[in-house]
Amino acid sequence: MKKKSATYSLARNKEFCNFCPGYCCYRLEGASLYIMAVDINRIARHFNIADGEVRKRFLDGKYTFKTREDGSCIFLHGDRRCKRCLIHEARPKQCRDFPYDKPCPYLESEQFLEVIQKRIEKQAKLSIVELS
Ligand code: SF4
Ligand code: SF4
Repeated sequence: MKKKSATYSLARNKEFCNFCPGYCCYRLEGASLYIMAVDINRIARHFNIADGEVRKRFLDGKYTFKTREDGSCIFLHGDRRCKRCLIHEARPKQCRDFPYDKPCPYLESEQFLEVIQKRIEKQAKLSIVELS
């Protein structure tokens, strides 16, 4: 039987998401966050604004959120180290379901981590400078 790595068992535990810096909240080449009409309506109710206003303020094109320069979702809180989604209660279905009861591909892939971890550390340094 194939031996599971330490990251494999960790990645299968959804609880880990609470302590993760949100690797999956960065848009990488080839990755997409697909936002449906029902998600837009939930977010509109969360902010008490119209669906059209959500599209205008937060969407890049028709189906995904705008991102910052470093590729992070505009709703990813820069200063928190855990529980970083600013619209956690109203987040899109894809964000709720990911990684679909499978091992988290971000924790499984050194290649992903190498790309995103640098961005997270850069953001963390910026936050420390702002606080000092
Ligand atoms: S799905 Fe993976 S990358 Fe996303 S928050 Fe959970 S552990 Fe982190
Ligand atoms: S909506 Fe929240 S969970 Fe989804 S990508 Fe943005 S910050 Fe991450």
